[in-house]
Amino acid sequence: MQLNDIFSSGQFGLSIEIFPPKTEKGEDALAKNLTRLVRYQPAFISCTYGAGGTTQDKTLDWCDRLQGEFKQHATAHFTCVGSTREQLIDWLNRAKDRGVQNIMALRGDAPEGQDSFQAVEGGLSYANELVTLIRDEFGDQFGIGVAGYPEKHQEAPDEETDLANLKRKVDSGADAVFTQLFFNNENFFRFRDRYQQAGITVPLIPGIMPITGFARIKRITAMCGAVFPEELYQKLEAVQEDDEAQLEIGVEHAINQCRELMEQGAPGIHFYVLNKSEACERILDALDIQPAGV
Ligand code: FAD
Repeated sequence: MQLNDIFSSGQFGLSIEIFPPKTEKGEDALAKNLTRLVRYQPAFISCTYGAGGTTQDKTLDWCDRLQGEFKQHATAHFTCVGSTREQLIDWLNRAKDRGVQNIMALRGDAPEGQDSFQAVEGGLSYANELVTLIRDEFGDQFGIGVAGYPEKHQEAPDEETDLANLKRKVDSGADAVFTQLFFNNENFFRFRDRYQQAGITVPLIPGIMPITGFARIKRITAMCGAVFPEELYQKLEAVQEDDEAQLEIGVEHAINQCRELMEQGAPGIHFYVLNKSEACERILDALDIQPAGV
């Protein structure tokens, strides 16, 4: 099912993002957690493409497993990092052959050791070029999602420029925008207003990462540039020796965020679950998104 069909169906578009684990133990744990998460009948599960362009094959291998073993619609993330146009097309052909219907089309970040993103010779510089390449080479054979930044992409000089660049991706043929994680809904709603004012009409899906640990979330927000609200930071800091208390705070915060987003008409929510299930399950239970067959 392509993104267009998902978001025009009138059903709430729940999606879950995983990453390819590095070890066999990690793979087993993910498989176990997926068994629990698929009970909530997500519209699709997406699998990331390794930072710096690694795990290229693992992304497709996990899409295979999602489709075969877990009977899910899989979305493959894909970046421009380290690949020429021909190599990008080759990978997309492999994705098509494996039955992947949606691509999350991204530029990606600079590989470790490089200060800034550099296109390889014969490669692409921005995600809008990847969207164009997919549409030029594959027409409507893939649904295309792209990334949006309610709190501005770190490299963008200002919000207006970043929004104009997002619009460029959509005008190139993206079907939906999935946002970077954020903890403050106000920032998302302000972004959504500007998005609509800019004339962007494709579905805008908020991205939520349940906080499961203070140290980890500090690292992630520093990396992706998400704003960590002071009050939430202090609450977590106060219980930094207590894993269970951190999880409780994270789950409660995410439930409140999701409730408000749903009340305010979000067409779906994209959960960054970090290959775990407990927090996401508790959030979905609280939101009354019932597991299938319950
Ligand atoms: P772009 O849209 O190309 O934007 C990058 C920067 O360039 C922005 O500052 C933008 O304003 C500017 N810009 C864009 N187009 C132009 C243009 N034509 N001319 C001038 N400036 C321009 N990373 C991974 O490595 N693997 C993943 O699987 C992955 N999945 C993600 C999923 C989601 C939902 C999100 C939100 C992010 C994901 N990322 C992933 C991270 C992403 O790769 C980084 O945020 C990256 O820095 C930017 O990617 P982009 O596709 O948004 O780039």
